[in-house]
Amino acid sequence: MSRNAESTAFRSALEVIRAVEPRVADAIGAELTDQRESLKLIASENYASPATLLAMGNWFSDKYAEGTVGRRFYAGCQNVDTVEALAAEHARELFGAAHAYVQPHSGIDANLVAFWAVLADRVESPALKKAQVRQVNDLTEADWFALRRELGNQRMLGMSLDAGGHLTHGFRPNISGKMFDQRSYGTDPVTGLIDYDRVAEAAREFKPLILVGGYSAYPRKVNFRILREIADSVGATFMVDMAHFAGLVAGKVFTGDFDPVPHAHIVTTTTHKSLRGPRGGMVLCQPELADQVDRGCPMVLGGPLPHVMAAKAVALAEARRPDFADYAQRIVDNSQALAEGLLRRGAKLVTGGTDNHLVLIDVSGYGLTGRQAEQALLDSGIVTNRNSVPQDPNGAWYTSGIRIGTPALTTRGLGTAEMDQTAELIHTVLTQTTAGANADGTASKAKYNLDPDLADKIARQATDLLAPHPLYPAIDLA
Ligand code: PLP
Repeated sequence: MSRNAESTAFRSALEVIRAVEPRVADAIGAELTDQRESLKLIASENYASPATLLAMGNWFSDKYAEGTVGRRFYAGCQNVDTVEALAAEHARELFGAAHAYVQPHSGIDANLVAFWAVLADRVESPALKKAQVRQVNDLTEADWFALRRELGNQRMLGMSLDAGGHLTHGFRPNISGKMFDQRSYGTDPVTGLIDYDRVAEAAREFKPLILVGGYSAYPRKVNFRILREIADSVGATFMVDMAHFAGLVAGKVFTGDFDPVPHAHIVTTTTHKSLRGPRGGMVLCQPELADQVDRGCPMVLGGPLPHVMAAKAVALAEARRPDFADYAQRIVDNSQALAEGLLRRGAKLVTGGTDNHLVLIDVSGYGLTGRQAEQALLDSGIVTNRNSVPQDPNGAWYTSGIRIGTPALTTRGLGTAEMDQTAELIHTVLTQTTAGANADGTASKAKYNLDPDLADKIARQATDLLAPHPLYPAIDLA
């Protein structure tokens, strides 16, 4: 495909938008400029391909398609069937999964689909069987009341938030915490690693219905074979949320015990992040859960988004190409180079390094909170996000950590030498930033001092680092 075609496609699209609301066209153009100029180290972000982006901006967006392939509640879904079937087929082939459901609109939605599929399978179905009815509408009022109580009285065991778990794994601010009685497993206070014996102990005591594996901020591999054995030993369903590291599973960097798909009963993921597709979610599962998973819409999801499913099909086709495996390996090489560069300069890293796409810096070693560090880095053209560290004394708002990840910069083509230079920039900013004080002289967790000239100098160096690796080089909006 000619590079010209990409440029023409996006330029024409902006022209059409500009004719209706020029401020939107300007914002879209400005976003490209911002993304081109910033050193993006947010571990959950990436740059989707032009083909993926274009697959989303079309008339598929207008179509209602409740139901599943070949079984819709609306007429005229033959083309939606094509893209949904393609996305599911690519997902099954890519991950070696028995079943794929590609309708979830996001990672949170995928998790909700999975939770309700397990609840339906393990709690609702036995209740229907016991009452000798086919569906919930046929239950007596008393049986329905009892079933609703039972559905709301189940247990979940997942990774604690400050060890890197996700809010949707049973924490109170999220619906999952209101649905489930939740307990969490943390990491070893010395090594920072998951202690599988402690997980087994917690499972034995708590007897969860669902054991959740997966994380947003744990920089190491997880042994899913062991977690499955623990789940089996207490009769729990084993679910893995691989949202963060799906690209490493797709690219066969995580195989054997570290690939969740053969071990889990049900796997959820986002399709963006390291998988580099459109913003969206997906559920993979064993055959026995497939029917319940396919009821995700209208159980907890709004109608499917055919334009996003089309983009998922494109991105998953890209991930099946051999060069994606090379990309996934380079993500980890870069992450390890970044970690080594930081360690060599004296940074304190949670677990002392990384096996995956992310690095968690404990910025208390620089005398800063995560919030101060995040802002100082942003002033210097380096985009990261603050994150709790295990047993964080600063809580979830100010935090003591900075999470950085390499999927986006790896897509741009930066390599290990540039990661070392990135480590130098980060370390310089953090050593030159000092914690600020409140008006009454007390220590502030938000205010900080950084020489603006130094911040400008680092921002220029960050731009220089990016210059040989233009983002979307074929796209010229001028
Ligand atoms: N699960 C994990 C492990 C995540 O890290 C995230 C996002 O940060 C999600 C789920 C939620 O994804 P989304 O933002 O697409 O709902």
